[in-house]
Amino acid sequence: MPDSTSTTEPTLVPDSNEPATRGPIIWSNALFLSLSPILTALSIPAYIYFSGHHWALTATAITLWIFAGMGITVGYHRLFAHRSYDAHPVWRFIALVSGAAALQNSALVWSASHRRHHKHTDHHEDPYDATKGFWWSHMRWIFHENDKVHDYSNAPDLAADKLVMWQHRNYWSIVFTCNVLIPLALGFMIDRPLGMLLFAGLARVVFTHQATFCINSLCHMIGNQPWSKKDTSKDSWICALITFGEGYHNFHHTFPADYRNGLKWYHFDPSKWLIWTGNLLGLTSNLKRTEAPVRWRKRHDRQLEVYLDRLAETLPEVHGEWKVRVESASQRVEETLTQWAEQLREYRRAVKNGEVTESLRQAVSEAQKAWHHSWKEFMALRNTMPLPA
Ligand SMILES: [Zn+2]
Ligand SMILES: [Zn+2]
Repeated sequence: MPDSTSTTEPTLVPDSNEPATRGPIIWSNALFLSLSPILTALSIPAYIYFSGHHWALTATAITLWIFAGMGITVGYHRLFAHRSYDAHPVWRFIALVSGAAALQNSALVWSASHRRHHKHTDHHEDPYDATKGFWWSHMRWIFHENDKVHDYSNAPDLAADKLVMWQHRNYWSIVFTCNVLIPLALGFMIDRPLGMLLFAGLARVVFTHQATFCINSLCHMIGNQPWSKKDTSKDSWICALITFGEGYHNFHHTFPADYRNGLKWYHFDPSKWLIWTGNLLGLTSNLKRTEAPVRWRKRHDRQLEVYLDRLAETLPEVHGEWKVRVESASQRVEETLTQWAEQLREYRRAVKNGEVTESLRQAVSEAQKAWHHSWKEFMALRNTMPLPA
């Protein structure tokens, strides 16, 4: 607890755990987000008990859950908030409708908040600051008024986008159509309007909410940090399974402009696979990928931190000798990375000008091999490094 009688200078940075910084409660948000999961848990079993089940109820709920969930990850997050790829107007329209179906505000509001999350991660101005605890970052942040919620100064590109602004203006009509009218219409087709409203409307919205909320809470708590330790973001394949691929969150926070969250092709990232498939069909373009040397530099910096932290716990005589070894292997990695990046730059320039030669291709390959060799030597140190005293 801070001592209110202290005579020391007040800190200029607001305490992120200070409850007084939270705005007044927005009761509609607080009640809906608290009661909708309880209502789902009670009404779905009650409906099945009294009226039985129909396969179309679950099938429609799952389909709409994927539709709305991917609307957030593929549309709101990777397209509008990060501009990690470009898309055809048809794709953008579908992304805006499916994102609205997720009931998480318009793409403009969502993206402006998310850009603040990346700019101020784990600090006071981060709307879902994970250092304030699981429930705050999961959903309690939505319970409170936030004077920045209608500040779109960090999203002039979106404010100038006619389609995004159309969705912003008509947000509640789209919400009502996707979450009430469509489930009701589908329900009448199988003579179960109430059942469809409960399964494909209420329960589906709850599941969509919880999947997205986990990105802000669990993805900042569970997993490891192979790319950077500058914030609380973590990589976790378990989180990826429940968030449509957003669980590789440490990679995402380190390289937010990359259209992928799961770097490897086999990492569970259906959002990435969908964007990639859209590219094959000509619906998405300019998919941004972080260049390999840039990624490996971050990976190296992080591994160096791990080594030095571990060495700091060893005996002084061991520490000194090993520090020299680690630093010299690290320097070799940095040198080969720089050479590889330079060769790649030259190669890209040649591709642009139509001047690619076999020797240039060879030079890139040699530079990559030299880096790979130095990286293997650097990583081999962890097998022989003495354990902490
Ligand atoms: Zn995050
Ligand atoms: Zn993001």
